[in-house]
Amino acid sequence: MQDKIRRIAIFGSTGSIGTQALEVIASHPDKFSVEILTAHSNEDLLIEQARKFNPNMVVIADDKKYSKVKDALASTDIKVFAGEKALEEAASIDCYDLMLAAIVGYAGLRPTLQAINIRKPVALANKETLVVAGDIVMQKAVENRVPVIPVDSEHSAIFQCLVGETRNRIEKIILTASGGPFLGRKPNYLVNVKREHALQHPNWTMGAKISIDSATLMNKGLEMIEAKWLFNLKPDQIQVLIHPQSIIHSMVQFEDGSIKAQMGLPDMKLPIQYAIGFPTRIANNFPRYDFKKINTLTFEEPDIRTFRNLSLAIEALNKGGNLPSVMNAANEIAVYAFLRNRINFLDMTDVIEKTMQKVAFIEHPPLEEYYQSDGEARTYAADLIKL
Ligand code: NAD
Ligand code: MG
Repeated sequence: MQDKIRRIAIFGSTGSIGTQALEVIASHPDKFSVEILTAHSNEDLLIEQARKFNPNMVVIADDKKYSKVKDALASTDIKVFAGEKALEEAASIDCYDLMLAAIVGYAGLRPTLQAINIRKPVALANKETLVVAGDIVMQKAVENRVPVIPVDSEHSAIFQCLVGETRNRIEKIILTASGGPFLGRKPNYLVNVKREHALQHPNWTMGAKISIDSATLMNKGLEMIEAKWLFNLKPDQIQVLIHPQSIIHSMVQFEDGSIKAQMGLPDMKLPIQYAIGFPTRIANNFPRYDFKKINTLTFEEPDIRTFRNLSLAIEALNKGGNLPSVMNAANEIAVYAFLRNRINFLDMTDVIEKTMQKVAFIEHPPLEEYYQSDGEARTYAADLIKL
């Protein structure tokens, strides 16, 4: 690996991805150090992480928590900042070597853009960034020659399959999906499912929002759009395939018909480690996949009539413009309403669909109009739910 220790800025360090990234970093103090940690409102965990990893600075987005964090770290030389604007400011300080973008949702977009603006490589977990403004984000990354290395397991799989293939054309990619906790269920069942049930994913333990997105299959829709921008694909080159065992993390089919797959047990620490260590693979003792133990891999078509969020996302993928950002905003509102038991599981789809129909379509929005579309969609969706 590189001789120098790589200084990592973790945006969203208290989440599922952030905490797993810190486990990886703690196992390799000779390779990584922590420069920035940020959290939304979990000040206790942020303080604990700061004491353990001794970063240059921490940011707590919820500014009501500032004095508690500041006081707790008073005896250290860790700088403490608060507020949403401080996230962007921290991202634009030239003190780190790589950003791990692990904030959930639209809130991750601006700090990630700042990292790219100051030419910092990004290990991207925050898929919503590319769903909202993928054209602008990737164009800036190309202009600034900044690598965007996916953390999402499917995209990490595709990225790994593409190493050494830069001159070869992709025929299509096959994004695998576990199918989530409600695989095989029909609307008459889904109408009654509750938050607790929807949060139980069969193969992965993740943050609340992505767990619900996995249960509705919106996650796979977001991932189709993410793949379009990461790998410069046309919508019809992106296929979704249900693979309930989550052993094949995704596949690439080339022009000659050859298919490459990347495989392993479902464990996010592997794609996280691959992204922050890229291009070097780092030895570890994570559990290995044993072909004798899980010896049947199965595949089926997604049921997009039942899981209509996926068809809405395919529509957004095909139409492009601001539609993905409108869909994403409505989805964020709908998921949080479902998590607070305000609407039922199938209502989420109605909120998203109505919002997509309502907000005016813009074919080539500049960044400001993406922000505006997001705001408009949020307001409209929240009104529908009467939040
Ligand atoms: P999470 O909810 O567990 O953690 C989110 C993190 O973002 C926390 O540190 C939180 O403090 C911070 N955050 C939330 N809202 C914020 C705001 N408004 N401003 C600033 N910070 C805020 O989420 P997660 O599961 O770790 O997912 C993070 C991202 O990674 C998501 O975009 C998700 O789709 C993606 N991802 C996650 C997994 C997984 O296994 N968890 C897998 C693939 C991709
Ligand atoms: Mg994924």
